[in-house]
Amino acid sequence: MSELLDIENIEVFYGPSQALFGVSLKVGEGEVVALMGRNGMGKTTTIRTLCRMSKQKAGRIEFAGCDIGSMPSHKVAQLGVGLVPEGRRCFANLTVEENLVAAARAGEWSLARVYELFPRLEERQGQMANTLSGGEQQMLAIGRALMTNPKLLVLDEATEGLAPVIREEIWRAVRELKATGQSILIVDKTLSELLPIADHCVILERGRTAWTGTPDALTPELADRYLGV
Ligand code: ATP
Repeated sequence: MSELLDIENIEVFYGPSQALFGVSLKVGEGEVVALMGRNGMGKTTTIRTLCRMSKQKAGRIEFAGCDIGSMPSHKVAQLGVGLVPEGRRCFANLTVEENLVAAARAGEWSLARVYELFPRLEERQGQMANTLSGGEQQMLAIGRALMTNPKLLVLDEATEGLAPVIREEIWRAVRELKATGQSILIVDKTLSELLPIADHCVILERGRTAWTGTPDALTPELADRYLGV
């Protein structure tokens, strides 16, 4: 399997305080990789660094065969990293449809395909984004990322704080995307949904990659050591 994303030993600081001390992770073409770890261990910082919203002091980031370690965010997005950020940002004063169209880039994804994945968005296509429920906004954020035809979809806590039925709808969509061969890097706390779809898990502890393996190899002891509260 060829590597789509290869992050090697990145170190990241917020001012004087170091957040990442050596994070490495790989995502192969068509793989779903779960980025895991307790609160504050560096998951969001890793994603921010991949998307060039934080800069690494050391280490290497390769995506689709390019060294993206010093590229600006928009270039990385153009290369095919589609981020659904924590907190699901959409354009509040645009409609659902306008939000989706504004994100569009040439490729397989179209409005029709996003609406097929999330029928609720079609029902609300003319509604302003700021009047959507939290779950609908999350679907819109995912739809927007897909409209860019990303080689890698990055989901940071996409189901956090949502009602169970909406969460289930988002997991269903993620499973459908995986089935089509979409490469995905995903952070989520719901292990019962996450582990069955993950090809690999990467666990961070205090800003370092502490463990990597398949979900099968993640024993209850390891889960307790790295993920338990
Ligand atoms: P969570 O699950 O709580 O989102 P996380 O694993 O995503 O946690 P990060 O948000 O990446 O962790 O945080 C890693 C470390 O960096 C933490 O110690 C955090 O306090 C620190 N940190 C994160 N953002 C900032 C910031 N803007 N300024 C200073 N320190 C930060």
